Amino acid sequence: MLVAGVDVGSVATKVVIIKNDTFYYRAAPTGWSPREAGAKVFKELLSDLGYVEEQVDFVVGTGYGRVSLGFANKAVTEITCHARGAAYLVPGGSMVIDIGGQDSKAIKIDNQGQVLDFAMNDKCAAGTGRFLQVIAATLGNEVSELSELAAGKSPLALNSMCAVFAESEVIGLLASGHDKGEIVAGLHQSIARRIASMVGRLGSSGRVTFTGGVARNESLRRCLEDVLGAEVIVPQMCQMAGALGAALIAQGYCSQRNIL
Ligand code: ADP
Repeated sequence: MLVAGVDVGSVATKVVIIKNDTFYYRAAPTGWSPREAGAKVFKELLSDLGYVEEQVDFVVGTGYGRVSLGFANKAVTEITCHARGAAYLVPGGSMVIDIGGQDSKAIKIDNQGQVLDFAMNDKCAAGTGRFLQVIAATLGNEVSELSELAAGKSPLALNSMCAVFAESEVIGLLASGHDKGEIVAGLHQSIARRIASMVGRLGSSGRVTFTGGVARNESLRRCLEDVLGAEVIVPQMCQMAGALGAALIAQGYCSQRNIL
């Protein structure tokens, strides 16, 4: 059985292929065309593995660009796919926090990775990868450097969470001589508090699985642990959780079809 999950995100397109219970994956920037990015990353990974599209039994598309994937057999929401992927990557977790380029979500799950409830912010940039990218650019750094900058620093209290106002506040703080690391630590704390309020709306949480590209930020992970008072685990394939969930769902559809 050869199945695939394609997660076309606002920033990155991720593909997971499952062949005989082995996972293969690849990610690349989405760019301006979600449709093209999805098809390109899917075909590239298939070709690396020595397969062609016609050999794939079932494809599930997810992410904000899922509806534009003409080659997918089914489109499934990100919430369902992230929950399923995260539950597979970290068995026993009861809450998933996903922070991607354009949104952040908290998903309460059962031990099979089924969604019990969720809360989502996709209305403003605050608390998303985009927000951190804007701040990193303002500081003259890469987003991947924010974690180290903030490590061990005391967070500076910040007033603005709106991406636009936060940018001007950061410029002002830099101009008045404040330490970059303390500013970033303060931003991480505001993001963690915002996420904690989403988690709080879903009731208390046990172990938390942190996914999405932003989960690579170790200082933010620690900050979330402090604010939530719970263990926060980042799986190695954190950015692939949605695509992995989609591929696992594709596997389920395929087995069902073979039985019928
Ligand atoms: P989407 O599904 O919306 O495309 P992803 O889950 O793929 O989002 O995550 C993309 C985001 O991950 C980008 O906004 C980027 O800022 C962030 N990111 C990628 N690498 C890192 C890193 N090393 N540290 C912090 N953030 C990162």
